[in-house]
Amino acid sequence: MTYQADEKGYYGEFGGAYIPEMLYPNVEELRQQYIQIMQEESFQKEFKDLLKDYVGRPTPLYFASRLSEKYNTKIYLKREDLCHTGAHKVNNTIGQILMAKRLGKNRIIAETGAGQHGVATATVCALMGIECIVYMGEIDIDRQAPNVARMKLLGATVIPAKSGSRTLKDATNEAIRDWINHPVDTHYIIGSVVGPHPYPDMVARFQSVISEEIKSQLLEKEGREAPDYVVACVGGGSNAAGIYYHYLDNPEVGIIAVEAAGKGVLSGESAATSALGKEGIIHGSKTLLMQTQDGQITEPYSISAGLDYPGIGPMHANLYRTGRAEFISITDEDAMKAGQELARLEGIIPAIETSHALAIFEDRKFKKDDIVVLNLSGRGDKDLSTYIDYFNL
Ligand SMILES: *Cc1c(COP(=O)(O)O)cnc(C)c1O
Repeated sequence: MTYQADEKGYYGEFGGAYIPEMLYPNVEELRQQYIQIMQEESFQKEFKDLLKDYVGRPTPLYFASRLSEKYNTKIYLKREDLCHTGAHKVNNTIGQILMAKRLGKNRIIAETGAGQHGVATATVCALMGIECIVYMGEIDIDRQAPNVARMKLLGATVIPAKSGSRTLKDATNEAIRDWINHPVDTHYIIGSVVGPHPYPDMVARFQSVISEEIKSQLLEKEGREAPDYVVACVGGGSNAAGIYYHYLDNPEVGIIAVEAAGKGVLSGESAATSALGKEGIIHGSKTLLMQTQDGQITEPYSISAGLDYPGIGPMHANLYRTGRAEFISITDEDAMKAGQELARLEGIIPAIETSHALAIFEDRKFKKDDIVVLNLSGRGDKDLSTYIDYFNL
């Protein structure tokens, strides 16, 4: 019994690769080679060296003493906010650009909603001197102007998706169409543990550096590798997969996943996928997703652009279905308060995605000597205008 993917990319009943026939050769090439490439010594060396010297890893495991005192438990923060580009996403894009090079690809495509994954992709393409095309919904281009500017400054081409609701799912459709038309020279960098197999497993492996580091850091600080709980916010689920990875099959470690309840789980404006989701297929994978009675994907809502996704990765759908993880949903309001609280108690301004995870301590009580490690997935710079508007700063 394992909570990791099986050979066909299934986590229990979720996962797999439900793709149009035209995409089969691209996905199959990656599936056949990804594990072998990742295990090559030269790949591991280049990946580790870049994580160290370019991203700035290992990121600190910081004991948050004032936050711990307030909630009467031991809270450690894994500081992914200190990664180059400000969040965990770059761990995955570095891994995938190296994968693309080994597969002989000289053109990268990606889709982005909030723009964070687009920026992380444009960054590694600049680093490697590889052409980068980012698809983005026309509405998102307007909403996320600073990230569009960043991508352009980094040399990427940003192509607006003008169909449908002109948001993330339409950008994804455009990216898939592009990939079908360029099967030989192009690699598609997916930004979370979503999409057809092997993406969820490959992205989880790249992000697993997070829990790998925690094991030795916690051993040094507490004399044991495993905490009592690991906590992360879940959009698609990549920062969560990274902090859970090496603890998934250790039942002593409690797993907590935090979703965005938006204006309330039942308000009609939320992104609480596990609570509201039904089984279905999204982006080539069988998982839980928010949909109408006749199976159309529902437009999600959250104050945090990075959690605003109608599905969750198949690993998390399985963690939910089996009860291995505890799922908590947090409203916009509670997240914003928790973000402000971390700023004032610890001098760290978190991304609003991360603020959702931080907000659980208000209601979810832990024992005094529990060790709780929370993934501080990103920094709040990108969210400053949202904080300004919300608190009238
Ligand atoms: C993108 C993002 C997330 C959500 O994505 P996951 O794949 O669920 O990790 C969370 N936090 C930050 C800071 C992000 O940029």
